[in-house]
Amino acid sequence: MLRISHKRMECIGCMLCAEVAPNYWSMQEDGLAQLRSVTEVRQNLEWGEGFAEDHDILKEAEEGCPVDIIKVIE
Ligand code: SF4
Repeated sequence: MLRISHKRMECIGCMLCAEVAPNYWSMQEDGLAQLRSVTEVRQNLEWGEGFAEDHDILKEAEEGCPVDIIKVIE
């Protein structure tokens, strides 16, 4: 499994992550993206897990996030 972290409070709502990896992020009514399956919240980071076969789309979200708040750890 891959580890995913998301600093939701700094999201600017560009929707990129929800478009490239809709199984992992959804846009919420407050205009921010939400990691769908949060397993842990530590300080201002929400953590989740990703399947190895989703590596490429998760990396696309990580690299495409304009405010650099998504990290995918192998
Ligand atoms: S790509 Fe980054 S800024 Fe854009 S919605 Fe996702 S978390 Fe927010």
